[in-house]
Amino acid sequence: MLEARAICKSYRGQPVLHPLSVSFEAGRTTALIGPSGCGKSTLLRILIGLVSADRGEVFVAGERFTPESARRLRHRMGYVIQEGGLFPHLSARDNVTLLASHLGWSAERMAERIATLRALVRLPEEALARFPGQLSGGQRQRVSLMRALMLDPEVLLLDEPMGALDPMIRAELQADLKEVFAALGKAVALVTHDLGEAAYLAHEILLLREGHVIQRGSFDELLKAPADTFVTRFVQAQRWPEESP
Ligand code: ADP
Ligand code: MG
Repeated sequence: MLEARAICKSYRGQPVLHPLSVSFEAGRTTALIGPSGCGKSTLLRILIGLVSADRGEVFVAGERFTPESARRLRHRMGYVIQEGGLFPHLSARDNVTLLASHLGWSAERMAERIATLRALVRLPEEALARFPGQLSGGQRQRVSLMRALMLDPEVLLLDEPMGALDPMIRAELQADLKEVFAALGKAVALVTHDLGEAAYLAHEILLLREGHVIQRGSFDELLKAPADTFVTRFVQAQRWPEESP
């Protein structure tokens, strides 16, 4: 559904992504994990077309990202970032409908879609009238998720969507996200720095280090068949309590 082929990216002569290839399939959630600065956010920005790669290509459902196709293909992808990225001067509802209204959707169609999404992400009706600053962190991320899903994209990219939430709210949103991902059957790429979260939410984990994919596999495979000592060290450093002896 979403594929990146041989992506290279440098900033000021410093390589951030080495030739890196990755694909994401419909109905599957893949967690991108790795030390801070290993290129997770850059990869996601390249996948959604916010940053251009120095070399390499991105395909959405087999169609290549080009300056001409970018806008159209971007509408087939939803993107959620850590702080939500909502416009502070627009109500939650207007944030969610901004693009659809720009694309000429009727008021009825938008209202119908909002009702579906609100139920899906469990956002109280009254929250839609509020501005982002008047919502809790968890509610803001639910609104961001609604916005990302408004056009019913085939691909969902999330960059540490729960990174700024306190533990209780985070656990709630994790559980709800798991249901949402399962219900929608989209190709999901989720950046997280929390291995427990990756194991809970994703079918597969993609472990990155300095712009290279070190290993891709289930949590179990990372534990039992680490590709190298970095994998073992990374897993141990996370000290996931449930899995520790
Ligand atoms: P991660 O999300 O894995 O923490 P990033 O993709 O944000 O990592 O960053 C990877 C590397 O690229 C870091 O060394 C970061 O400093 C650098 N980098 C990211 N964006 C920029 C930018 N716009 N300009 C210069 N360097 C950047
Ligand atoms: Mg990042």
